[in-house]
Amino acid sequence: MAKDVFQIQSPVGAFQLTAGTRVANWNGVKFHLGFAPVITNGVPFVHSLDVDKNLAPLSQVNRPVPRGRGVIVLDPGHGGADNGTKSVLGNFFEKDYALDWARRLKPLLEARGWRVLLTRDGNRPVELGERVLIAQREQADLFISLHFNSAAPGAMGLETFCLTPAGMPSTLLRGPEENNVFLPNNAQDFANQHLAMRVHRSLLQTAGMADRGVRRARFMAVLKTQQRPAILIEGGYITDRNEAKLIASPEYRQKLALGVAKALE
Ligand SMILES: [Zn+2]
Repeated sequence: MAKDVFQIQSPVGAFQLTAGTRVANWNGVKFHLGFAPVITNGVPFVHSLDVDKNLAPLSQVNRPVPRGRGVIVLDPGHGGADNGTKSVLGNFFEKDYALDWARRLKPLLEARGWRVLLTRDGNRPVELGERVLIAQREQADLFISLHFNSAAPGAMGLETFCLTPAGMPSTLLRGPEENNVFLPNNAQDFANQHLAMRVHRSLLQTAGMADRGVRRARFMAVLKTQQRPAILIEGGYITDRNEAKLIASPEYRQKLALGVAKALE
């Protein structure tokens, strides 16, 4: 082990952290810290916000998912004139793959005892605020937004997002950002991280994707005002030729659905 790598043991597993980088590892699965740890005179230091908001929830990874009324709102990204990302393979669009993923996931969750609602079940435009209102109206216990990713060629793999805790820098930014803000969904910080990691791990196991880690963002409108645990999954890059081929196959999209469902048993 390199001298800048250190471990923290918990009753349910091990964190592997590296001085100077925000990418960390929990039982073999990646997540992103708010602050890079440092080693001073041989002693590792981890920021207290990372201890509270990242390490503490994950060390309770075996606790059950909050089920409450047993209602999940699934949110297939985009719709209508908003196609989302276009596949590198041709005229295939994120909005259609996301809807298919949600439709496959719904019966799998229902078989596991959840009531499931979709923010759209067709190619209609839905405002971001309306997606949040649907979850509010249904008093949903969980909100899961389904997307596929875009980037310059080369990027591939699974990313799962939840809201950045107050005081912490985000993993993904869309411009300058104030860190010291408490947004409504920050009341769910603990459950958000727990849910994100649980779903992320299950997807890696079921679909065998490259791991780009659980990440934090503050700009995502479907997450930040939610009054329930809420995550956004980027189920692979349709701008990567190999991953786009996988995503184009119904068998693979069924694996993506099964990966989420298994996390919520
Ligand atoms: Zn999207």
